[in-house]
Amino acid sequence: MDDRDMGSDLEKVLLSQEQIEERLTELAAEIDADYAGREILLVGVLRGAVMVMADLSRKLHSRVQMDWMAISSYGSGTKSSGVVRILKDLDTDLTGRDVLIVEDIIDSGLTLSWLVGNLRSRGPASVEIATLLRKPDAAKVPVDVRYVGFDIPPEFVVGYGLDYAEQYRHLPFVGTLAPHVYGG
Ligand code: 5GP
Repeated sequence: MDDRDMGSDLEKVLLSQEQIEERLTELAAEIDADYAGREILLVGVLRGAVMVMADLSRKLHSRVQMDWMAISSYGSGTKSSGVVRILKDLDTDLTGRDVLIVEDIIDSGLTLSWLVGNLRSRGPASVEIATLLRKPDAAKVPVDVRYVGFDIPPEFVVGYGLDYAEQYRHLPFVGTLAPHVYGG
């Protein structure tokens, strides 16, 4: 834990800044090898994927463009339902493009499954997914995730783009919150 432990709001560090950095370097090398000679359109999902996008894209040697989508997913409590609304759409025409969705975390996978279907309907050459984190429930949804940073336990995590009530996104590591933060 560094001096940004937010007054002990955090319980533990799950992934350090160094671990994330190292893994993103590996993923970038895989992506470069897979897309050799092609231009990748990185599609980031706001707001959680901002950090992953910034750090992963800077490690890529391929030709890259970036675009962003904002979507809201309706659900009860902390679980998403798969019912999604577009708050900000892409500005890019996807026809014939090699699209790589960049995600922070896949939990139920419902949001992502909707997103992949939506983007595929726009005539791209390919749609693949890169996510920093994946939780075990994601296995239940038939979405092929090509690049996974880390498989993590089914715990609620914050940091590195991920929030709790819009806080903790700026932390350079991924951690879990202490129970008192939830009102425990
Ligand atoms: P899914 O549709 O895969 O269940 O939901 C994915 C979205 O739920 C993520 O993009 C993220 O916004 C949110 N989410 C899922 N698990 C976590 C978590 O552990 N921490 C945070 N901060 N958000 C999460």
